[in-house]
Amino acid sequence: MFLTILTFSFQEDDNFKAERNNMVKTQIESRGIKDQATILALLKVKRHKFVPKEYVKRAYQDGPLPIGYGQTISQPYIVAFMTEIIKPKKGFKVLEIGTGSGYQAAILAEIIDSVYTIEIIKELENSAKKRFKDLNYKNISVKNADGYYGWKEKGPFDAIVVTAAAEFIPPPLLEQLKEGGRMIIPIGSPFMTQQLLLIEKKGGKTKTKNLMFVRFVPFTRSK
Ligand code: SAH
Repeated sequence: MFLTILTFSFQEDDNFKAERNNMVKTQIESRGIKDQATILALLKVKRHKFVPKEYVKRAYQDGPLPIGYGQTISQPYIVAFMTEIIKPKKGFKVLEIGTGSGYQAAILAEIIDSVYTIEIIKELENSAKKRFKDLNYKNISVKNADGYYGWKEKGPFDAIVVTAAAEFIPPPLLEQLKEGGRMIIPIGSPFMTQQLLLIEKKGGKTKTKNLMFVRFVPFTRSK
């Protein structure tokens, strides 16, 4: 009996590994993601551990999935794109707004030194925190707050990744970006198509580039 369960779970893991490899090949590499560190992180992180039980079988599909409280885990390709664009490397300190499932934070944590991530919904912050502990991520710090204000005590950051769509760029986030740093943020009205922007801070000025149309859940504000 015990052996049966054991064999079964090994098989399950193997299946997921094959699905993950396939996800990286067909959704990530085929769409032009080239950064090796990003690709290795997507091959490694078990996305099925970041989705609710009822979606485990769909964890490697090409799209976002519900994670409760009206929120979603982003599409794998979008996570890869947002990771590659900040040019992540060892030594980096990155701020993420919108922890959600914690998947994007885990991908970053595989590559860089420290990830600070903020989630406005207490229950999601709690479950992400537990997940990071279970999966042994020691370089991710989570807090429950309105990410509009950033995390000043821990800044400035080499990069800031915002995973909820805001109507404008929160000024505190720009302030907490290092000179030479990059911020990626979806901007636009909630539930409509938004623009994914890349903002670079150079010589005290900012340079903004429009990357693509995206659809994210709204950036909400604490009352
Ligand atoms: N990065 C997540 C994507 C989650 S969706 C993942 O990989 O799963 C975006 C998340 O942003 C939601 O969980 C939502 O609750 C959160 N959010 C929205 N507005 C926020 C704000 N002002 N501050 C912090 N988190 C916010």
